[in-house]
Amino acid sequence: MEIETGRLTYFAFASSSDGNAGVVSDGRTHLLLDAGISAARIRDGLGEIGLDPRELSALLVTHLHEDHVKGAKVFLKKTPLPVLRLKDAGGTGGIKVGTVTVLAFPTPHDAEDSCGFRFETGDDSLGFATDLGEVTREVRRGVKGVRRLVLESNYDPGMLWEGPYPFPLKQRIASSTGHLSNPDAAAFLAEMAGEGLEEAALGHLSTTNNLPPLALAEAKKAAGDRMRITVLARRGVVRF
Ligand SMILES: [Zn+2]
Ligand SMILES: [Zn+2]
Repeated sequence: MEIETGRLTYFAFASSSDGNAGVVSDGRTHLLLDAGISAARIRDGLGEIGLDPRELSALLVTHLHEDHVKGAKVFLKKTPLPVLRLKDAGGTGGIKVGTVTVLAFPTPHDAEDSCGFRFETGDDSLGFATDLGEVTREVRRGVKGVRRLVLESNYDPGMLWEGPYPFPLKQRIASSTGHLSNPDAAAFLAEMAGEGLEEAALGHLSTTNNLPPLALAEAKKAAGDRMRITVLARRGVVRF
C-alpha cells in the first residue's frame, strides 16, 4: 500500500472495541493515531504502508482506555515520539505538526480528557470521532465542514440490550458518556451531508454488539445517497 501525497489518508490498522490504531498522513507528515494494539502489530501495519517507525512525527491519543493505548508504552520505548492529547491540540487553531494542522475537540466519554481530532492541510480535511456517548456541540463544531470523516458506529441497540453483557455495562455503553449507536451515527451523517461531508468510514464497531452490514445499512439508509460510506475492518490495514 502506498501513501499518496497531497491528500489526507487514514490507514486503520485495527478499529473495534478490542483495539484501535492507525496512521493519518498527507504523504509528508505521518501521525500515529492511538496505539491500542501490540507494538508488534503497529510495526507490521507501518510496514504494510511502507513507513519506518522513525518517519512518524507524533503519537496522538484520543484517551487512555486500554483499547487505545495498550501498545503505546512498548512502542514508544523503541520509537520515542511526542505524545499529543486534548491539552496539546485543543486550543484555538490547534497545533501544527509538520505539514498537518491537528485540532483536538472534547468527546463525551467516560475517560479523562477524551477527544476526537480534525486534521487539515492546505486543501484537505479529515475528522476522527470515536468513543463518544453522544454528538455534542463541541463534536459538531470539531468536525464541521470536513471533507471526510471517521465516525464511531459502535452498537446496534437491539443486539446490545438482548446481548450477553451484564446490565450495568449495557447501561454504560448506551449512556451519554459511552459509545455511539448505529442510529446515532446514521443521524449524524445525515446532518453532516448538508455540511459538505463527501465520505465517511464507520469505525470502532463492537465485536459483541454489532455487525458491519447492520451499521453500514443504517448509515446508507440515512445518508448513502449523499456521500460514500464504508466500514473499517476490525483487523487488518484499511485505507480511507
Ligand atoms: Zn475505544
Ligand atoms: Zn473508550
